[in-house]
Amino acid sequence: MDRVAVLDWSSSGVPKLGKDSIWLGVAQNGQVQAENHATRAAAYDALHRLVADTLAAGETLLLGVDFSLGYPQGFGRALMGDDRPLALWGWMAAQITDSPNNAHNLRMVAAQANAAFAGDGPFWGNGAKADIPGLPRKKPQLIAGLAEFRATEIAAQKAGLRPKSCWQLAGAGTVGAQAMVGLHWLEKLRHAFAGQVAVWPFEQATAPIVIVEVYPALLDQDVAAALAHNPSLVRDALQVQMLAQALQGLAKAGQLAPLFAQPHPMAPVEGWIFGLGHHIALRAALPAGVLPPRLRDDCFAMPQGVNWVPVDQALARLRGALHPVTGTETCPIARAHGRVLAQDCFARRPNPPMPNAAVDGYGFAHAATGAGPQRLPLVAGRAAAGQPYPGVVPLGAAVRILTGAILPAGVDTVVLEEDTALDGAAVVFDGPVKPGANTRKAGEDVPAAAPVLPMGARLRAPDLALLSAVGIAQVPVYRRLRVGVLSTGDEIISSPNQPALPHQIYDANRPMLLALAESWGYQPVDLGHAPDQPQVIAQRLNQGAAEADVIFTSGGASAGDEDHVSALLRASGTLSSWRIALKPGRPLVLAMWQGVPVMGLPGNPVAALVCALIFGRPALSLLAGAGWTQPQGFWVPAAFHKAKKPGRREYLRARLNADGAAEVFQSEGSGRISGLSWADGLVELPDAAIDIGPGTMVRFMPYAGFGI
Ligand code: AMP
Ligand code: MG
Repeated sequence: MDRVAVLDWSSSGVPKLGKDSIWLGVAQNGQVQAENHATRAAAYDALHRLVADTLAAGETLLLGVDFSLGYPQGFGRALMGDDRPLALWGWMAAQITDSPNNAHNLRMVAAQANAAFAGDGPFWGNGAKADIPGLPRKKPQLIAGLAEFRATEIAAQKAGLRPKSCWQLAGAGTVGAQAMVGLHWLEKLRHAFAGQVAVWPFEQATAPIVIVEVYPALLDQDVAAALAHNPSLVRDALQVQMLAQALQGLAKAGQLAPLFAQPHPMAPVEGWIFGLGHHIALRAALPAGVLPPRLRDDCFAMPQGVNWVPVDQALARLRGALHPVTGTETCPIARAHGRVLAQDCFARRPNPPMPNAAVDGYGFAHAATGAGPQRLPLVAGRAAAGQPYPGVVPLGAAVRILTGAILPAGVDTVVLEEDTALDGAAVVFDGPVKPGANTRKAGEDVPAAAPVLPMGARLRAPDLALLSAVGIAQVPVYRRLRVGVLSTGDEIISSPNQPALPHQIYDANRPMLLALAESWGYQPVDLGHAPDQPQVIAQRLNQGAAEADVIFTSGGASAGDEDHVSALLRASGTLSSWRIALKPGRPLVLAMWQGVPVMGLPGNPVAALVCALIFGRPALSLLAGAGWTQPQGFWVPAAFHKAKKPGRREYLRARLNADGAAEVFQSEGSGRISGLSWADGLVELPDAAIDIGPGTMVRFMPYAGFGI
């Protein structure tokens, strides 16, 4: 199929644009677009043009529509004595009027159809104010001897979807009404291009134009992810575009044929949702690398008049302001350590793939054994991992089997080698043994096609073992977040390689922050050091905006005279200086520079580290697609005294002593870099006042829990 179009239909009685109106997504030549049509007549014109264009170009088109193309078996025969589904299209075309301003008579036609049946149905549901004789408002008891759902809808329900019955004409997502004002347009299209259009699965999909029924919710998870990237997109537009792209992806890869295989005996009678049961393939066919939108410039704004923000409130605001900013790519498992999954992953193979032996021993059929001493003659050869036993083990015989070997035909139970003795050419052991003893069932660990890891998971070494075991060679991941790090201050010297004058100090923050970014799995981007000169800082920030997805600065973040970072960001109009009730820490500066978020950390290395761990880490994680992170912490007895005042949350440099109690660094001075290195983590003291003495329980957050 050269082109794929996906139509999201509407039964609106008035012209309508935007949400819940008609959307047409068209994918061709790797491009995709969505059109919005106010009326069905306008949408028909667009379809007509698309088909004419396709045929003129000598190309083919797959047209997916999101309403049912058929009805439960028996409807056509009872209505007009004809079982052929396309005969129903003709009936609809003869009955339905659908004017250029979207006014239609579908409920009258439904009532008329109901008249052909005893009882109240099958059609029901009336969105209009006026009552229509013959159209019940509520679902009738018995749907006139017809099934409520088609076979495909029952299959869809089993797959976790929630299709509505085609008899239901009112309520949210009612496909029934859409089909009634849709089939007659498709019938018209079919006749306009007679001989060139096939309707699957009623006809062979061999014509240049093939119409199928689709269910855009198959890709809901991916649509939701894309919407999370950009909440301003219209869901309907995204749905039709993504489904068109996925179908075109399959077509390009030559993988559409399985979707056209007859899915069910009822399909040629009732129709079938195209792609049902193939949603993993469809999702895998979605193109990677769609670039998410940038953050809004005012995303960090604090409400007027907010003075001191408690830590938890600041974290909540930060969480609300950010979303993933990197695109996606495909990455082989061997290089995927630390990367963040951009889609849910499903097993391509069960684990274990086949039933196998859990121990070294002897395998046999349980049915031939009983209580008391058992003596089973051994067959020649053995079953080992990677060396399957080729024959069948006869009932009453046993085979030597090693851990991991596939159970040979005729074997369902294994006895542990240590529990046996060999007697010439036979194995001897005490019965009874449990059926299936010492074996592993196929898929007992991971069933076929089971979800294994969710979108947003950061891949650790054990995750790679799992992915590999279930046959996943490459994964869709977010592109690695690039984290720019800039130090500022006239007193700072870039590198200990350079001589320092007495008033100068070496840059402690930059190596620390670059290393943090790296240990969190991101790509560190060294933006160097800038003196307190606005034009130099501006130039480095420009470089950062070009080379990084987010920038950490340190120093110059308060309101003092020399604090050029704040001054500069304020001048660019997007600065928010958050006065967070936190010690150590000064205002946390949050800003956007050319569309890139900037986090201005304090200059003091202790405060810089605490702010980077408490605010920077979860923020980067969200930007990277891995979601918000909560640092790990646990309660331990204190091994120190402190009378903490109310009003600010405090983080103390701490480590556990031999008794598992937290001791803290002797000085709380935020210039004491040695204490950072002395510590193994932080003790978090609550916002409220607290008197701490030895044995008071305090929350210890190990560095390891911050991923360092
Ligand atoms: P500032 O935030 O610029 O007012 O700096 C606060 C304190 O942190 C000052 O004593 C600075 O000298 C110190 N400082 C700033 N940046 C760094 C750095 N990169 N490495 C070590 N100390 C720094
Ligand atoms: Mg400074």
